Amino acid sequence: MSHLSILSEVFGYSQFRGPQQDIITHVSGGGDALVLMPTGGGKSLCYQLPAIASHRAGRGAAVVISPLIALMHDQVGALHEAGVEAEFLNSTQSGEEAYAVEQRLLRGDIALLYAAPERVTTPRFLALLDSLHERGLLSLFAIDEVHCVSQWGHDFRPEYRALTVLHERFASVPRIALTATADAITRADIVERLQLENARTFVSSFDRPNIRYRIVEKSDSTTQLLRFIEREHPQEAGVVYCQSRKKVENIADVLAQAGVNALPYHAGLDPAVRQNNQNRFLREDGVVMVATIAFGMGIDKPDVRFVAHLDMPKNIEGYYQETGRAGRDGLPADAWMCYGLQDVVNQRRMIDESPAAEEFKSVLRGKLDALLGLAEASDCRRVRLLAYFGQDSAPCGNCDNCLEPPAMWDASKPAQMLLSTIYRIDRQSGMRFGAGHLMDILRGKVTEKVTQHGHRELSTFGLGADFSEAQLRGVLRQLLAMGAVRVDAEAFNTLALTEGSRAVLRGESAVRLRQSSATPTRRAGASAGSKPSGTPLTPIALSDDALARFNALKAWRAEVAREHNLPAYVIFHDATLASIAHRAPQSIEDLQGISGMGVKKLEAYASEVLRVVRARG
Ligand code: ADP
Ligand code: ZN
Repeated sequence: MSHLSILSEVFGYSQFRGPQQDIITHVSGGGDALVLMPTGGGKSLCYQLPAIASHRAGRGAAVVISPLIALMHDQVGALHEAGVEAEFLNSTQSGEEAYAVEQRLLRGDIALLYAAPERVTTPRFLALLDSLHERGLLSLFAIDEVHCVSQWGHDFRPEYRALTVLHERFASVPRIALTATADAITRADIVERLQLENARTFVSSFDRPNIRYRIVEKSDSTTQLLRFIEREHPQEAGVVYCQSRKKVENIADVLAQAGVNALPYHAGLDPAVRQNNQNRFLREDGVVMVATIAFGMGIDKPDVRFVAHLDMPKNIEGYYQETGRAGRDGLPADAWMCYGLQDVVNQRRMIDESPAAEEFKSVLRGKLDALLGLAEASDCRRVRLLAYFGQDSAPCGNCDNCLEPPAMWDASKPAQMLLSTIYRIDRQSGMRFGAGHLMDILRGKVTEKVTQHGHRELSTFGLGADFSEAQLRGVLRQLLAMGAVRVDAEAFNTLALTEGSRAVLRGESAVRLRQSSATPTRRAGASAGSKPSGTPLTPIALSDDALARFNALKAWRAEVAREHNLPAYVIFHDATLASIAHRAPQSIEDLQGISGMGVKKLEAYASEVLRVVRARG
């Protein structure tokens, strides 16, 4: 049976996306592959389909190494819905359940087996693999989220390192390693760590055109976030990333009090609460998850409409992976980040204070600088993001800078004033001060500290009285981002000059800033993202009748999902329900060929779907 016919029979899709077909052909032919595809690009199919084909040919199971036990139940559930024999082996099972799975494996009854890396590398599991291999029932290893093997990836997991044993012990079994994180240094590290030198690398376009990137200047971030959600994403599912557990809880509270259906998620929560919150996010409509970066890996909810960052991540890989969780269904979605001076200070300090070797820190600094460059940019955000992953592109028309090109102002003068204040104080007394005091001096404020240290006598005192505090903060942030000033974490976060200060002081490097975006911006244009409130976002515009059918189908789907204890999108995607609603099928034949309607789902659900459609005329 051809791969294309499995695609249509099992998944109900009519064509492969991007490099899927090449990857599947390569892996099915016994080759190793390293697959770099953005989140939502369609990675799972690249191993599921070869696994199904091998299983049908009597060659047993593919072992999928997946880092998160908490998601295996849903992953396997989704395959069951499509009629695929899939199972997992993990610590949530009883000994008997696990034994039953092992027996089915040994009989060749299973196409895909999911397990976590720490389990796969146990002697017991390896012995099971030996038995399968001897019987010719081990078809493929799929290593998902493979960037976890690298310390340069942002989710380093030491257990992944031990996976080299698979290659050493089962050299003839092909391996496919997949990730959405792919900068050059991480890529090289993955290849080396897992001995994938002979693997063919497949790199897809990293563009996610439906995601609108926006980075706004931080003033009162909680209010800014609340306004963003209320104006643009009421009742919609989203993720809000914060750096600390405490902040997660605080923001989740504030949102909940404002009537947003918000839940917290971080590694410090009781595991049962955490799992329950995750389940609610996956199963209910319109939940906003406020989370640390501990949340998100492996989450494949397709209708996340926004990802918001209240704190800046460490690097572009992290940012891109996190924002990539928005809009997997291809419909308009927002990536919104609120960014300010403190973010730059904190991130720089975390690197400075880390006990790592200097060489390692300098890689981290380089990565942070790239993200700061993105945040400060006045040109297309997407061009910069894609360039970071080695991809050329033209201005996108769907980011804040493309939609509303920012007005810039030349901030070289106030930048020089700030730097020379630092210089003068240092020369005068050998002392250093923090940002607030420096701004007070420039703005000519007579504070106790100013008087105490005689800073009224400085020639720069009051020189910057024409600038607002917000403007000066922006200048300082830009200087920090450029590396023209640094924060000394060991001395109470005081500011100090750097090698780069000189060029600014001499007027050789200009400091250009966007005019404050702190004033509320209108919802950019009547473009892709805007819709009358209350209208669901669907891939096709629905008539009123069709909309009634769509809503009825959604209600029916919710019931089925509850019965099966699975997220609704695992039963059918919104896109599938929308095309059913649009076509108003009257017979099983009418349902055939609708995207997402595989043979098993047709068998299981056709009569119910037709009944729901007929009831709505
Ligand atoms: P990733 O793991 O790369 O983040 P997924 O494997 O979850 O992405 O796929 C993203 C979405 O795209 C899923 O909902 C999947 O069903 C859908 N998809 C994958 N391949 C195809 C295809 N060839 N045609 C249509 N939809 C597809
Ligand atoms: Zn753009």
